[in-house]
Amino acid sequence: MAHLQQRRSQNVSGEFYVDSTCIDCDTCRWMVPEVFHSAGGQSAVYHQPTSEIERLRSLQALLACPTASIGTVEKPKDIKEAQQSLPILVAENVYHCGYHAEDSYGAASYFIQRPEGNVLVDSPRFTPPLVKRIEEMGGIRYLYLTHRDDVADHQKYAEHFKCDRILHSDEINSGTRDVEIQLSGSEPFELAPDLLIIPVPGHTKGHTVLLYNNKFLFTGDHLAWSDELNQLIAFRRACWYSWTELTKSMHKLVNYSFEWVLPGHGRRYHADAKTMNQQLQQCINWMKSTK
Ligand code: SF4
Repeated sequence: MAHLQQRRSQNVSGEFYVDSTCIDCDTCRWMVPEVFHSAGGQSAVYHQPTSEIERLRSLQALLACPTASIGTVEKPKDIKEAQQSLPILVAENVYHCGYHAEDSYGAASYFIQRPEGNVLVDSPRFTPPLVKRIEEMGGIRYLYLTHRDDVADHQKYAEHFKCDRILHSDEINSGTRDVEIQLSGSEPFELAPDLLIIPVPGHTKGHTVLLYNNKFLFTGDHLAWSDELNQLIAFRRACWYSWTELTKSMHKLVNYSFEWVLPGHGRRYHADAKTMNQQLQQCINWMKSTK
């Protein structure tokens, strides 16, 4: 729960506010850019919601915030409606889970609803309203983990949904040693005809990305859109293994066709496959010029 006595002075007056526990993960800002912005190294409300849909989306951000740093002056009577609205549809049968986990520094996780079995991409917080919604949506067949940083409550999800977790063996540590499917090597792994896991070492040694239906690329911390640079980027200052390897891994993705980049951190990006490929090339050129 956010605390009124910790309300940041940068918020405009009114119902919604951000308190001083904000870890500046950016989630609320990309979820509801018309309400939240960056001010003084943390988020703040600069425009109070003025319509029902803005209020609903602000409550979704409140629920998604990994540190419960977003509050309302009055206890929201419509919070159940907001809980019911998560996960949020991105496109087709792909959803953004919300309920980001502080353990993964607020990384986004996604849910693919498919007849052959649903896939949870990276771990959100294990929280009853989301667990109930996922049950209603058919449970989880696979919990795919892009890399070691975004595993959060994987154990609880695995125990509750009896799903198989997937993680590259180079990412395994004491907290993930029981992961059911441990990938190895650098070749792509076809989990199903519509699910291809592509190793992309760089951010970490065993980082992988998931390509679903040749359309949706779940990129973890490998690739994201930057509003600031107005292009696709990799995270130079958060590269824990090798920038050279990361650049090589980015080259690999040029051979695949996709229309969505859905990252853990950073902004998502949607374009037709041709434009996406051009953006990827631009990203690679930028990476080569970035020391
Ligand atoms: S979602 Fe929460 S922690 Fe993240 S930037 Fe917004 S207020 Fe801060």
